[in-house]
Amino acid sequence: MTNKLKQPLSDLCFILPAALLIILVALFLFAFFKDLHFFKYLSIGLSLIVFYMLPLWNRLAQKQAVFTIKMQDTREKINLLEAEIAHEKKVISSFEEKIVRFSQLKGLTERLSMSLSLEDTSKTLSVEVNRLFGDKDAVIILYLFQSKTGELGISSSQKDQMNINIKAKRGDIFDQWIVKAMQPLLIEDTKADFRFDADKIVTEDSRKIRSLISAPLMVGHKALGILRVDSPRENQFTTEDLRFLTTIGDVGALAVENAQLYEHVEELAIKDGLTNLYLKKYFLDRLSEEISRHMRHKSEMALLMIDLDFFKKYNDQFGHTAGDIVLKTVASTLLEVFNQPGNFVARYGGEEFCVLLPDCSKNKAAQLAESLRKKIEAQTITLRREETSMSISVGIAVFPKDAQLKEELIHKADQALYRAKKEGRNRVCTA
Ligand code: GH3
Ligand code: MG
Ligand code: MG
Repeated sequence: MTNKLKQPLSDLCFILPAALLIILVALFLFAFFKDLHFFKYLSIGLSLIVFYMLPLWNRLAQKQAVFTIKMQDTREKINLLEAEIAHEKKVISSFEEKIVRFSQLKGLTERLSMSLSLEDTSKTLSVEVNRLFGDKDAVIILYLFQSKTGELGISSSQKDQMNINIKAKRGDIFDQWIVKAMQPLLIEDTKADFRFDADKIVTEDSRKIRSLISAPLMVGHKALGILRVDSPRENQFTTEDLRFLTTIGDVGALAVENAQLYEHVEELAIKDGLTNLYLKKYFLDRLSEEISRHMRHKSEMALLMIDLDFFKKYNDQFGHTAGDIVLKTVASTLLEVFNQPGNFVARYGGEEFCVLLPDCSKNKAAQLAESLRKKIEAQTITLRREETSMSISVGIAVFPKDAQLKEELIHKADQALYRAKKEGRNRVCTA
């Protein structure tokens, strides 16, 4: 449209009539004062001016119309530019947000790389998510699948920069949804989300949950757990937040897997692969620590040495693999019977086991050993489709009554065990 605009009128177009007008005024004055005949020339002149002005007015009107259109055009362009600037501003602010989040992610990765144990890693992850997302009402929960049961279990939970105790240990309907779908989940308002029945959303903790973001922790196709943030207020999270949580989840999943591998390697170094009981070396270290602790507290501690009776016979009759099954069975019975915090069960070597019972008298230890002996005696183990049973002999020594030094205590318990063997096996003897 602007290309079709005519050239602006030259100044001459205005100067010429103006000059004519001045001349006419002069002539009019001349005619009026000097010669009245002169008026007819004047009227001819006036007619000429009017004749000349008409197209001029016309062109002026045209020019005004063009100018109006040009103005509208410019206004339109300004509007477009303003919209473009607003869009660019949004892009810039989203870039700024991304830069901030990338640096937060970098910090998180650095802190995670410093945590080796699973406990540390879980704590770091939930503390960091709390720092990045949490307002004071938001709750951050990190669930991990338990290696033994495969069920969800809370590994760490935070609210207002504090550890909190969540009662729903296995997760709620939102976590079950993630377990099934293995997809990130954003709920802007639990009351308006058709996927979940608002009336059924009752947490065991009677916590109010109105909005939530949650992401599965995946390494390849392996699911390790769930990372979630929930809030008692609706519309607290956006898709951008969910995307960020998912990225944190990806980084976190790698850290969790590393920690799990690290713990597994550590466990391999201190635990026996066959029975999953502690190894002798670790047991001896622990015994030294426990002796020092009991010495400080002036309390008693019992040591049980346990040996399977005629175990060689099982190996000879059913083979070494069957012998391993017997060892495993006895080991799990030991863990069952001495399943108390502080108790310590180890494989001392071959078919010998030892148990440390802190703050335990000789009588109490003898009672426990007797119930273990009975339990194992009553147990039947099917080896090569044949039902067999077995027995154990137990020797007990107690710190500080029987011995005050580590080696002496072991020796005393060993001597008691030797006596149990000598007296006919399948019995408990004390030092
Ligand atoms: P006692 O009643 O006098 O203790 O007789 P025993 O047969 O139990 O004692 P002995 O020390 O003669 O035999 C222990 C056997 O345990 C010998 C060894 O082959 C076996 N053994 C040691 N470690 C393992 C293991 O890890 N797996 C299997 N299957 N057998 C083992
Ligand atoms: Mg034996
Ligand atoms: Mg033996």
